[in-house]
Amino acid sequence: MALAIIDKCVNCHACQMVCPTGSIRKGKNDLHFMINQDTCTECEGSYDNPQCSSICPVECAIVDGDGEPMNPYGSLTGLPIEKAVLV
Ligand code: SF4
Ligand code: SF4
Repeated sequence: MALAIIDKCVNCHACQMVCPTGSIRKGKNDLHFMINQDTCTECEGSYDNPQCSSICPVECAIVDGDGEPMNPYGSLTGLPIEKAVLV
């Protein structure tokens, strides 16, 4: 299994610097950072939790293999979902 970055990513670079497997890149034509699905280990064997989603400041930018957000709405801001500005 691997995590994935979706279009809510704001290209802050933070996750790229903490990935132990070098799986996070932004190609010249990519609109946002991407996770290499072949090399992402979900940080197993390196850390207790995925480092990219632990440092990502944007809710819902990184999803698990089922497409579920690692940092769902409200998890970083503390705002209830009814107060979220969904973009
Ligand atoms: S889960 Fe870990 S190995 Fe996978 S992209 Fe994120 S930091 Fe890298
Ligand atoms: S930390 Fe989050 S917002 Fe920043 S580049 Fe990575 S996925 Fe995008």
